[in-house]
Amino acid sequence: MNNYNDAAIIAELPLPIAPAERPLISLVVPFYNEEEAIEVFFATVIPALEAIPATDFEIVCVDDGSRDATLQMLSDKALYDSRIVVVELTRNFGKEAALTAAIESARGDVVIPFDADLQDPPDVIPKLLDKWREGYEVVLARRVNRDSDTSLKKMTALWFYRLHNKIADIKIPENVGDFRLMSRSVVEALKSLPESRRFMKGLFAWVGFKTATVDYVREQRVAGQTKFSGWKLWNFALEGFTSFSTLPLRVWSYAGGFIAALAIVRGIWLIVRTMVYGVDVPGYASLATAVLLLGGIQLIGIGVLGEYIGRIYFETKNRPVYLIRKKIQASRVKAPVQVAL
Ligand code: UDP
Ligand code: MG
Repeated sequence: MNNYNDAAIIAELPLPIAPAERPLISLVVPFYNEEEAIEVFFATVIPALEAIPATDFEIVCVDDGSRDATLQMLSDKALYDSRIVVVELTRNFGKEAALTAAIESARGDVVIPFDADLQDPPDVIPKLLDKWREGYEVVLARRVNRDSDTSLKKMTALWFYRLHNKIADIKIPENVGDFRLMSRSVVEALKSLPESRRFMKGLFAWVGFKTATVDYVREQRVAGQTKFSGWKLWNFALEGFTSFSTLPLRVWSYAGGFIAALAIVRGIWLIVRTMVYGVDVPGYASLATAVLLLGGIQLIGIGVLGEYIGRIYFETKNRPVYLIRKKIQASRVKAPVQVAL
């Protein structure tokens, strides 16, 4: 090898990087019965993260009380790779709680919630990091199309966002899921929120911070089934409305006022009519209809009150959002330094 070549090699070497410039990326992933997806998940995500220059990473996997081999498979991975941390919850707490557990266990300078089914493509992560390096504290990943969703899900999601953003003070960005990058300061802000009923999309929006957006195409699930049935999604939407708006409560005062005003007008009209034309016996059908209608409306009003009181009840109990059975992470064993004499 001549001197010329040596010089070329030295020039290609990356400059030494100070620890502060080597950010730790935490990929935080909730897992619930995902045994079919785990192998392909790690086979895809680890090379993708390794390929990002000048960064370190950890993958925080929360097992949300899976009933299949998920926990075992995750633990096996963690034993051989100290970059993988497994947090085992004591039962299935639901995705929002599992995600909270994952975010709270993450140590990274940036934290990225991610789905175990690879619906969020890892090649978007460098783009999120670029924006973070430009100085943004939150970088949202927005789905440019939702072809991977059924048309019913697309339609209900659209209605949900429209209605939510009309009635709630905190606007949730449309077509943005949990997949996003958050800086450490954002994570600390999230951790300081005390509520135990956690609608993460709303909380993410509530904390604010300097935000940028990156577009991506959402993929199909790589394996397994979605964990969200129509009924679960409906309850999730209710959680969203009631967590960030009191309009459903207030609207009943207006409805009540409107109906009472109508009743007064009708009463006056009836009195006038009786005075002019005398007593008229028929009218049971309309009476019964009015009673049923009012009864129904009152029940809806009470139901909405119940929704909120139920939430107040849960909050006042002050129970933790999740419970951890154990954390699994292989200790980083330093290789002995070999000194050639
Ligand atoms: N998940 C969870 N606990 C649950 C339900 C789901 O941790 O009770 C996880 C699941 O393993 C996946 C993520 O949440 O990593 C998103 O779930 P899924 O893909 O089923 O939702 P979809 O993408 O269909 O909305
Ligand atoms: Mg999914």
